[in-house]
Amino acid sequence: MTRYDTAQPEGQSAYAEAAELELRHVSKLYPGQREPAIADLSLTVGAGEVCVLVGPSGSGKTTAMRLINRMVPLSGGEILLGGRSVLDREPRELRREIGYVIQQIGLFPHQTVTENVATVPRLLGWPKERTRARVRELLTLTGLDADEMGPRYPAQLSGGQRQRVGVARALAADPPLMLMDEPFGAIDPINRANLQDEFLALQAKVRKTVVFVTHDIDEAIKMGDRIAILREGGVLAQYATPKEILARPADEFVAQFVGADRGIKRLSLTTLGELELLAPDGRAVDGARRLSERASVKDALSVLLTAHGEPLAVVDAEGSVTGLLTLSHLERLITEEADGAAGEEPAASASALAATGESGP
Ligand code: ADP
Ligand code: MG
Repeated sequence: MTRYDTAQPEGQSAYAEAAELELRHVSKLYPGQREPAIADLSLTVGAGEVCVLVGPSGSGKTTAMRLINRMVPLSGGEILLGGRSVLDREPRELRREIGYVIQQIGLFPHQTVTENVATVPRLLGWPKERTRARVRELLTLTGLDADEMGPRYPAQLSGGQRQRVGVARALAADPPLMLMDEPFGAIDPINRANLQDEFLALQAKVRKTVVFVTHDIDEAIKMGDRIAILREGGVLAQYATPKEILARPADEFVAQFVGADRGIKRLSLTTLGELELLAPDGRAVDGARRLSERASVKDALSVLLTAHGEPLAVVDAEGSVTGLLTLSHLERLITEEADGAAGEEPAASASALAATGESGP
């Protein structure tokens, strides 16, 4: 391993890499309040997984984050990071090992981008050369030109650029856990979609354990390996993969929260490669519209709706046709799946559209 030019440099961290996070019967009652902000929250986030905490305003999402990094004291329960209670750690030391990204603010206005990103390495006393190399690497990793952006002050950046710097700063000391509290909440929709895509690409490289807060269910479905849906009083309504939540909302609250269009949303989570397609038939393939097997079922539906009853040819990476899809065949798959999901033993459903207990690859 090279010394200073890797995305995962050896650090003085207590953790070699991403760490599992476990909340056990966590509760928080703020002084002077009658109702707890969090009542009894238990959940485990696997090492390298993205858990999205989603719920209406006031459901305790920010409180949960601050309990994890000990910015507010626990009232009850336990929080374990890498199997070790956060209460056993010195709070300041703990916080250096947990990347924290929040909406808008958080950057030091009188420091340059480079100085901002170097905050934790400086606190940890890294040699100057190593810090400089790490800052360059992180700015590049988060899609910023180090030479152009490094010397700027936060006021000289767009909102999207500031959020990228916030993410770079949080990643600086290679933390085993990242807490992201509505990080893209103040960004316009187009930039927000870009930041989400970039973050997913970045996460595929750095594989941190991430707790990501949002009140936007679409963002949760896109970003989460698992989604924890909280309701008022910090009560966990459901904790499952996006597919499971859309297929089988635990109760009326979750069903309302995910929206009446959950059937359509589900179609965006399954790719054509996962479906049992019709066997390719020479004549039908000629002139048929083609779609990659990596495309979503939702995209295929959209194409089929304007295809005048013609089948769609599904192609693999080499461009070979792997199967055909028609509107009526797709309807059959969806109906079978819906029957399966409504049954007593959904796991028995063979359909690729069915939710599984797995969080995927
Ligand atoms: P969310 O991030 O989901 O919007 P919060 O965790 O900020 O929710 O707040 C959860 C509940 O705790 C709310 O009812 C809020 O008013 C209350 N709360 C948050 N911070 C404090 C505080 N420092 N003192 C008292 N009550 C608080
Ligand atoms: Mg909040």
